[in-house]
Amino acid sequence: MSALIFERSIKNRRGITLPEFDCPEVHLDENIVRAAAPRLAQVGEVDVVRHYMELSRNAFGVDNGFYPLGSCTMKYNPKLNEQTASLPGFSDIHPLQSPDSVKGALRLMSELSQQLCEVTGMDGFTLQPSAGAHGEFTGLLLIHAYHEDRKDVKRSKVIVPDSAHGTNPASANMAGYSIINVPSNAEGGVDVEALRSVLSDEVAALMLTNPNTLGLFDPNIEEIAKMVHEAGGLVYYDGANLNAIMGEVRPGDMGFDVVHLNLHKTFSTPHGGGGPGSGPVGVKAHLLPYLPDGTVVKEKFIANEKSIGRLRSFYGNFLVNVRAYTYILSLGSNGLKEASYNAVLNANYMMAKLKDHFPVAYPVPCMHEFVLSLQKLKDETGVNAKDMCKGLLDYKVHPPTMYFPLIVHEALMIEPTETESKETMDEFIRILIELKDKAYTDPEYLHNAPYTTPIKRVDDVLAARHPVLKAVL
Ligand SMILES: *Cc1c(COP(=O)(O)O)cnc(C)c1O
Repeated sequence: MSALIFERSIKNRRGITLPEFDCPEVHLDENIVRAAAPRLAQVGEVDVVRHYMELSRNAFGVDNGFYPLGSCTMKYNPKLNEQTASLPGFSDIHPLQSPDSVKGALRLMSELSQQLCEVTGMDGFTLQPSAGAHGEFTGLLLIHAYHEDRKDVKRSKVIVPDSAHGTNPASANMAGYSIINVPSNAEGGVDVEALRSVLSDEVAALMLTNPNTLGLFDPNIEEIAKMVHEAGGLVYYDGANLNAIMGEVRPGDMGFDVVHLNLHKTFSTPHGGGGPGSGPVGVKAHLLPYLPDGTVVKEKFIANEKSIGRLRSFYGNFLVNVRAYTYILSLGSNGLKEASYNAVLNANYMMAKLKDHFPVAYPVPCMHEFVLSLQKLKDETGVNAKDMCKGLLDYKVHPPTMYFPLIVHEALMIEPTETESKETMDEFIRILIELKDKAYTDPEYLHNAPYTTPIKRVDDVLAARHPVLKAVL
């Protein structure tokens, strides 16, 4: 493991020389002067550069290699997006500037909202939420405001299918709702009869991902939306999986009232390293009056009387919006559609190549991702999904999502995205099959993998029970 910058510190070593002090001296009040100098690392410039270069080589991102992390859409992010996001007219402005002086930014936000409306079939968007989960929370507050405004105050429950992303029940809970779980049917979609049995005048909304986290498009979606509407509830679309259907089918046309998108997934902003995200929320006309304050509509900030208020400081992660806008304009409407087609094609190609080696959880044509079950491998060799993922690390590829969705045992969820070549996918398939053979001949090897990473096999039980989240100096 790399040394900490503090461990490289040598007393009185300096990276820079400050200019001669030539200002009048100011004597600050004793109370606000710190008692001791801050403990900063004392290192030369070359040490700093080497330190960060070393760290950057230990980090793994889409620019390093294949990253088929299901549900996360780790597609390659074109560098053109970075160029536009670093134009000074976008990157050097401040949200407190007068609207007159940031007309270009306002226009970009208006046009992006309009483009997102077209892609999703919604009537208005707010760009304020900072991530998918934040968008879900926003959407649920909008739904809450809608019911309350109509004096329909009995609605305290939100329905979530058992294949949902964990953020769905968590956001609903944060918004004050209790959760009703509905099971999936044998085809991996919502069990319509089970849904019917839990609908009532206490249900505020159903949250749904379509295609869902199994990579399956629910063919009953129109019926599902109709059922929920007839019971007086609204239908929420978790749009994190939009990469499968862009330009082909729209949540607004499927019957959804509210959607969130993950610009950092579908619309190509780097993510996964804790960088900023953006989870815009789109609504149908009946929810427009509740949109957050500070939403930009037609180049103006709106202030709705019935607004749910503000969801964060200022107007959202603007530079993520610039990247998404660039991406949408550079692909065009046909390009977006083609991106989705290729994402679906790539996932089906990989599934077809792997299905004879690992059982596919739902062996039907998939959308942008698919789920394998490694239960049989575990039963026969003792090697589980986690061991296989640790083994992959030694080949310099990022493992797929594992143990999710929860309804598949020993799940590996693979999402190649449209930006990967056939050669890259073939190489990954070859590695996975090689590791499977290894599981039968030398399971111990996989139990102890990885061997080449800066940190070897971690004790996750210990890490979960006694997390050490910062270096003790
Ligand atoms: C990623 C994801 C989310 C949450 O999005 P964040 O931006 O990570 O908060 C929600 N639902 C699904 C299906 C996702 O894949």
